[in-house]
Amino acid sequence: MPFFTVLTMQPLSFILMTEVIMKYDLIIIGGGVVGCALAREASKYKLKTALFEKEPDVAEGISKANSGVLHAGFNIRPGSLKARFNLEGLSMCPPLAEELNVDFRITGKLVVGKTDGDLPYLRNLLSQGKKNGCSGLSIIGHERIRRLEPGVSARWALLSESTGIISPFQLTIALAENAAANGVDFFLNSEVRALIPLQGGGFRLTTKTGITADCGGIVNSAGMHAAGIKSLIEEHETLTYPCRGEYYITDKADGHLLSMPVYPVPPADGSGLGVHLTPTCNGNILIGPSADYLADAEDTATTSEVMRQLKKEAAELFPTLKDVVFIKNYAGNRPKLFDSGSGLSFADFIIEESEKFPGMINLIGIESPGLTSAPAIAKYVIEDLVSRRIDLRKNPAFIGEHRGIIRTEGLSDEQLSALIADNPDYGEIICRCEGISRAEIIQAINNPLGALSLNAIKKRTYSMMGRCQSGFCLPKIAAILCEETGIAPEEIIKFTAASQVLTGRIK
Ligand SMILES: Cc1cc2nc3c(=O)[nH]c(=O)nc-3n(C[C@H](O)[C@H](O)[C@H](O)COP(=O)(O)OP(=O)(O)OC[C@H]3O[C@@H](n4cnc5c(N)ncnc54)[C@H](O)[C@@H]3O)c2cc1C
Repeated sequence: MPFFTVLTMQPLSFILMTEVIMKYDLIIIGGGVVGCALAREASKYKLKTALFEKEPDVAEGISKANSGVLHAGFNIRPGSLKARFNLEGLSMCPPLAEELNVDFRITGKLVVGKTDGDLPYLRNLLSQGKKNGCSGLSIIGHERIRRLEPGVSARWALLSESTGIISPFQLTIALAENAAANGVDFFLNSEVRALIPLQGGGFRLTTKTGITADCGGIVNSAGMHAAGIKSLIEEHETLTYPCRGEYYITDKADGHLLSMPVYPVPPADGSGLGVHLTPTCNGNILIGPSADYLADAEDTATTSEVMRQLKKEAAELFPTLKDVVFIKNYAGNRPKLFDSGSGLSFADFIIEESEKFPGMINLIGIESPGLTSAPAIAKYVIEDLVSRRIDLRKNPAFIGEHRGIIRTEGLSDEQLSALIADNPDYGEIICRCEGISRAEIIQAINNPLGALSLNAIKKRTYSMMGRCQSGFCLPKIAAILCEETGIAPEEIIKFTAASQVLTGRIK
């Protein structure tokens, strides 16, 4: 890890102290999909870069709790940053996902109208999409809808052929692990608490855990907390309003019922895209999200009333869903730039360098389509904004490919036998619902970021995501975690630092 030791002269009454202050060219705050895309983009250049994340792993904020749709960009105001980065990001995501070995699929998407009264809205979407440069858009009638998605009940639909789905946490993790392999330092469990400008340029950052680092430039991609990070260094008036989106997930056994995302004509208040149905890369169906403004940005609880409403609205779009099995619910919060009473229905991404403190770049209000846009935002921020202050020279050692965990999913019997012959741990299935082997769990535990929570294993392997929701496999995974790392069972956490799973021994 690159660092410099700075000897600080103290007043005579103090002894000479040694304070370690790390030095970086660039610091990124926040390990969501945007921060991790920025880290990988920065690693293409000869920059000393560090990323600070407050949680024990990357992809623990908005980037783990969304619909995972690679949006086509037809529902966004033309000329906006959202439209620009959505379209650019959509074209960047498939090759990036191939390079990083991340699950994705171009599925197509339907926005469905129940009545002829919805047709003008769908036509407006079509013409807005054309203005934005979207390809593969057409209005189709109920015959074609039935052929594409037999379970959907609708009269008209806008078909978007270029929409896709991606695993949002796998993308975030792969970006981070690849950035780490290319030399970026990751500081997990490292909440940024203070930022000061340095005389002569640059910044000094301090974390809750007492780490101090100086740098030439900062990119603030702290998601829901980005406006708060900006406030650490300058007064400003930008506020973000958390707007919670709750979801239901169906069992994989019913995943075959839906092949592409299906959205309704959305609510007119701009609160979201409406309760939609989305297939996941792992074979489930997501139902949601709702849209409720909250006071607490960290409140990602799910509620029984919203769950009832989601089931009702899903069954209106897709009647068969009223009989399927649901295995889990979750919620993610959107960092909205206006509140419910504002009368506004659109606000653009804020991506700008501070006028008062050149070198400080703030990314605020990165809500949907932030996942799709992340690679394009990262390229723009590094190439167009960071380059104004820091000389960018290509890193000839950069390697873009990321293999990740060698998974058994989709292998033929012969391929699986060969893998087991090479490593018998592939023959021991630990997570029965998802068919995840001991070998995959061990690779996840030994991940390049050193993240050790159960969620870190879950997001990397899909273990604990099945019908039993970890009821059977958690004790085995906890035991492997202890064996591999030497930590005590009581130290195992689920996701945040204060989420211990085991409290003590009973025998
Ligand atoms: C319900 C919902 C559905 C969505 N669906 C889609 C979709 O289908 N397609 C799409 O393209 N987009 C979608 N989005 C938007 C997308 O998920 C987000 O735009 C994207 O994940 C934002 O990424 P981020 O990196 O900016 O934020 P985050 O993932 O939240 O990352 C920010 C990180 O900063 C960290 N942090 C905060 N404060 C500090 C601090 N002081 N010090 C250190 N670290 C800090 C946080 O812990 C967090 O990990 C959806 C969003 C929601 C909420």
